[in-house]
Amino acid sequence: MTGMLMLPDYRVRQRDYLLEISRAMTSELDLDEVLRLILSAAVAMLGGEVGLIALREGDHTFRARATAGVDPDRLSVFAPLLENLNQDDGLEASRLDLRMRLVARALDIRLRQVVALPMIIRGSIVGVIFVFRTYAAESNPNDRVLLQSFADQAAIAVNNARLVQTITEGQRRTAAMVEHSADGVMVLDAEQRMVLFNRALGRITGWSAAEALGQFHDKVITWERIDQGQALGAALASGWPYRARGDGKSAPKDMPEPLYVEGDLARRDGTRVSLGVTYAALLDDEGRLLNIIANVRDITHFRRAEEAKSTFISVISHELKTPVAVIKGYASTLRRDDANWDHSIVRDGLAVIEEETDRLTELINNLLAASKLQAEGMRLSQVDAVDLVQLVLRSAERFQLQTKKHDLVIDFPDDFPHVMGDETRLRQVFDNLISNAIKYSPEGGNVRIVGSADEHNVTVAVSDQGVGIPQDEQAHIFERFYRVDDALSRRTQGTGLGLYLARAVIAAHGGAITVESQPGKGSTFRVTLPRDGAPHPYSA
Ligand code: ADP
Repeated sequence: MTGMLMLPDYRVRQRDYLLEISRAMTSELDLDEVLRLILSAAVAMLGGEVGLIALREGDHTFRARATAGVDPDRLSVFAPLLENLNQDDGLEASRLDLRMRLVARALDIRLRQVVALPMIIRGSIVGVIFVFRTYAAESNPNDRVLLQSFADQAAIAVNNARLVQTITEGQRRTAAMVEHSADGVMVLDAEQRMVLFNRALGRITGWSAAEALGQFHDKVITWERIDQGQALGAALASGWPYRARGDGKSAPKDMPEPLYVEGDLARRDGTRVSLGVTYAALLDDEGRLLNIIANVRDITHFRRAEEAKSTFISVISHELKTPVAVIKGYASTLRRDDANWDHSIVRDGLAVIEEETDRLTELINNLLAASKLQAEGMRLSQVDAVDLVQLVLRSAERFQLQTKKHDLVIDFPDDFPHVMGDETRLRQVFDNLISNAIKYSPEGGNVRIVGSADEHNVTVAVSDQGVGIPQDEQAHIFERFYRVDDALSRRTQGTGLGLYLARAVIAAHGGAITVESQPGKGSTFRVTLPRDGAPHPYSA
């Protein structure tokens, strides 16, 4: 019996068959399917019983990838065959025969011969097709040529499928990277329509990918203000991305200069975000614009921090200068050699100096507390049972002395419980709330301080009938150095630290501070603190 002993007309048919199978193999791009096609053709052509394809891996070892005639679960049985296959004499018939016997024993099949067809591309082996026969046969030179041509086709098919697999994996990786990037990413086609729009960009702009895809760039990216650079449309009109080359026509050899735009964007719901967008142009070989790829960074926080820093410097210098100027004025007046001030003038002057010094001290303390808070968080120095009613009464008395326009009204239930806390810090909080209530109601009115308690918490609400706080500012007034930017704040002394510190103090006590306000009507700040475990009724 002979392997591929064929009559000439058989050979013609064999060639047709080979052509057909080659076509099927090379047009298939799924690697598993390609291997299956190769293997079934090889087994059929060689009249084999069992077939195996081993592919060379990145580390040059061979791994069994497909079998015919054997359960795929038993791929490991072929391991001895594949060992040392990458050595020079790895495919030598005598060595293979030896190893085949080991495989045959493991499979419990009486195999007599193994034919190994290396699949070679550009001089390097991509894999080996093995066909095992239950009989031994010699093939003639013609058959060998045919088989080699088959193996060459198979090698191309495997190579293609592997390339596609690598590209697909790469694409999947890139897509996942883009989709989960913390920065916004979009890709535009040559007409500036969105062809890719990632999740982060959805968050930043308020558009969902489904809505944004297919839209023109300018419909989604709507600048309210541009601080740096040029909008994409304007930049394209004035020659970007070709500008760098100067002639405006031919393609730059390297990547064209990216375009950077920074400013405020109107989100879909009308709110604003500060963005920095970097556009990169992708050109084809002739220099035509293929795509624009943009990276979008939300710089709102960064911007706000920058703004806070510059307002801080102007606020602080103003806040420091005023009391210093007053102190200096009084001191130099009082020490004039030519004046003989009477006692009451000297006393009043010294009182002003003392007051202003206190203000300076408080300001410096606030600044230190704020920078300490930033560095190490809020630490409570001494925690005791605190009588909030007494604390608020004393604070209100002090402030009532400083204003005639306002009526401070205090309303606490008789059994208002003590809380565990740091008395000094809690006093700072209520001083600040009461002082704000007075400062920000320049027309006067009632300042009500109302206590209440339930089984878990105590609440103290400080309400005024002042200017109020616009809704969109309410979330920000607890931020460091934040002040509502209006005429009143500008002429009212303050640093924007009071509420920032207050919130940190209350949070350190396990409580919360909230605001409710209507512009023009007034504001209520509500401090909630966990109730002291031990009952400690207040008695007036
Ligand atoms: P400041 O030193 O500016 O008073 P705060 O942190 O205490 O700093 O307050 C921050 C900002 O919140 C103030 O500048 C003011 O614009 C606003 N604000 C605070 N309390 C009130 C209030 N009771 N009524 C209206 N606006 C207030």
